[in-house]
Amino acid sequence: MVAYTCIEHSVKDTISRIIDTCKRENPCDAEIRYDEPMSAHTTFKAGGPADCWVRPTGEGFPAFAASLLQAACAADIPVFILGGGANIVVADRGIRGIVLDTGAWAGEMGNKPVMGMSFRSGTALDDAAEIAAAQGLSGLEFVAGMPGSIGGAVWMNARCYEREIADVLLETEIIEFGTGPCTAAGSRQQRIPVNRAEFGYKRSPFQGQNALILSAVFCLVSGDEHTIRGEMEAHRRDRESKGHFRFPSAGSAFKNNRDFGKPSGQIIDELGLKGLRIGGAQVAPFHGNIIINTGNAAASDIRSLADEVAAQVKAATGFTLEPEILFIGDWYP
Ligand SMILES: Cc1cc2nc3c(=O)[nH]c(=O)nc-3n(C[C@H](O)[C@H](O)[C@H](O)COP(=O)(O)OP(=O)(O)OC[C@H]3O[C@@H](n4cnc5c(N)ncnc54)[C@H](O)[C@@H]3O)c2cc1C
Repeated sequence: MVAYTCIEHSVKDTISRIIDTCKRENPCDAEIRYDEPMSAHTTFKAGGPADCWVRPTGEGFPAFAASLLQAACAADIPVFILGGGANIVVADRGIRGIVLDTGAWAGEMGNKPVMGMSFRSGTALDDAAEIAAAQGLSGLEFVAGMPGSIGGAVWMNARCYEREIADVLLETEIIEFGTGPCTAAGSRQQRIPVNRAEFGYKRSPFQGQNALILSAVFCLVSGDEHTIRGEMEAHRRDRESKGHFRFPSAGSAFKNNRDFGKPSGQIIDELGLKGLRIGGAQVAPFHGNIIINTGNAAASDIRSLADEVAAQVKAATGFTLEPEILFIGDWYP
């Protein structure tokens, strides 16, 4: 126990030294908290503490983030990049290392692309749709009302209403911070034109990469603001009517799979699993593919319930459900 405490302190000292150095060399306003509960930063409102949570803001974000990623990588300190926390469940034991929160790196980028719009990665999806609509630009209506950030949506290739991010993405700007062990070259900032062949159902090329998505350019076309806003409102109302915001959740718990012949939610519903509960986690009584936090769910309740649903579906149908929500952090001793 004593040894564990010493290690913990030494990691936090290292993190604190890294952050101080990065701030000195790349001045940037940043909120920094140690042992920060991730329940405050996820839509599930569950999960334990991050060793260190950093939320940089302002124009200094890219340089500060690049140096932080490079220094953390060199010191073997893991970094988790957080968007809106709308697709994750953080373990009750929390996240070791640094959580780099992109939420304050938000808004339209200064460099106006010839076609479409460029957004900072921390921009909330609904805000991005609003900003585009205000300029009479159509293409992002489908993300209106979807929780999460531009960076997370690109990383997930988020989709709804028959559209996905890759349909409108033109280019992504990233900071790569080394694949595998950190190299002396450290982090690299680069623009990557979209290659649609690398995107698929809930899949993007960034999922296999140590990369911070800094910004994304979307191909948008001129449209009638009234029509654009009408479609956005319809999507928001549809989500409300489906109960998306009634309880904390991370949206769909499981991916769909064409081979199953029907949506995962329908399979779960037909097996009578709606309402199934473990601790404070429950399969939403109103939607088979949403797991909700009824008030005080532990992350382990959510994970156990997802495992139980998958096990019952497997036993009854032979289908293997694949979780769509990501289980992040320190799950196992
Ligand atoms: C009520 C509700 C409804 C939902 N409906 C839908 C839906 O219709 N369709 C859908 O696809 N999803 C849906 N979701 C899930 C979620 O909104 C999306 O997956 C969203 O794109 C997640 O974005 P985020 O910023 O919250 O990502 P996070 O949950 O913060 O992170 C998800 C992953 O992206 C990575 N990431 C985030 N930002 C960056 C970045 N800047 N650079 C590199 N990596 C990054 C993280 O490290 C993590 O691995 C829903 C969620 C909720 C709560």
